[in-house]
Amino acid sequence: MEKFEQIFKYVNEYAEKLVEANGLDYLEALLQTLEDTLDGTFEWQVEGANKEDMRKAIQIAILKGMRKSAQPNHQMTPDTLGLLVAHFVEQCFEHRLQHGPIAVVDPALGTGNLLFTVMNALNGNVEATGVEVDDLLIRLAAATGDLIEQPVTLFRQDALEKLLVDPVDAVICDLPVGYYPNEEVALDFELCASEGMSYAHHLFIEQSMNYTKDGGFAFFLIPANLFESEQAKQLHKFIKGHAWIQAVIQLPENLFASKAHEKSILILQKHSEHLKAPREVLLAKVPNMSNREALAMFFEKVSMWREGNDQKR
Ligand code: SAM
Repeated sequence: MEKFEQIFKYVNEYAEKLVEANGLDYLEALLQTLEDTLDGTFEWQVEGANKEDMRKAIQIAILKGMRKSAQPNHQMTPDTLGLLVAHFVEQCFEHRLQHGPIAVVDPALGTGNLLFTVMNALNGNVEATGVEVDDLLIRLAAATGDLIEQPVTLFRQDALEKLLVDPVDAVICDLPVGYYPNEEVALDFELCASEGMSYAHHLFIEQSMNYTKDGGFAFFLIPANLFESEQAKQLHKFIKGHAWIQAVIQLPENLFASKAHEKSILILQKHSEHLKAPREVLLAKVPNMSNREALAMFFEKVSMWREGNDQKR
């Protein structure tokens, strides 16, 4: 059994006991398990386990809990997507990372799995902030962050309201998709719909730009049909006015349950007077992840794109 499986076994057994004894929902029991681990009430030992083993074990337990729960907003970004995002963050900040950690915010933190996958991959080079509206998810994220010793400042709030966050080098966000219910808050955005309700995913893109430094990047997981809706024209106009599109990367269909759930990665760079527009926008499709050769060629293409994209004025 791999180390993360051994950790999962301990965590799962304890959580199942709590479910039985206290009638808790599995995710609540998992939270209790993580908190009990942190305060020493529950102890387990897996020799040589590292931060990734711990993150993966918690990821499996959260997935199990989410399958059992009926909450539609309880979604987690799987690490196949997180690792791809991490790769692009590393590519875009390759030189910058030599001068110390970058500031990152995830305004739709959820369980924190996306953020922690990126933080573990960048190994100590990220100062992170997370914002999430759901109480249970943010508490799971807080406990996970403590257990894997990845320092993250958390805010439980609506991320589309004002944030107590200084502009960051990078936003990473698996966008919540759908209509945004608070029409009063939506009025503060350029991307507020002129008729009817606004799209939360559009407002999140705008809010992310509000909190990105000039020249900083935003890495979004977007619905694959983002630019096909009736509000797409407004979105295009907004992006053109504030950012350069650096890349649009289609993800393999087999990663998603159905066509409607397919996602892509969109990388934006906020305009900066000190930089030139990128010479080339990367438009690519990630090959099937089991095809190692094709995947290696894809990563080669990505590094050639970055190397050829000197934006210095
Ligand atoms: N990356 C996350 C992870 O790995 O668990 C999953 C993100 S999930 C696709 C989107 C998240 O956005 C959900 O957890 C949802 O509760 C949160 N969300 C939706 N609207 C929000 C809002 N207005 N403010 C803050 N969080 C919000």
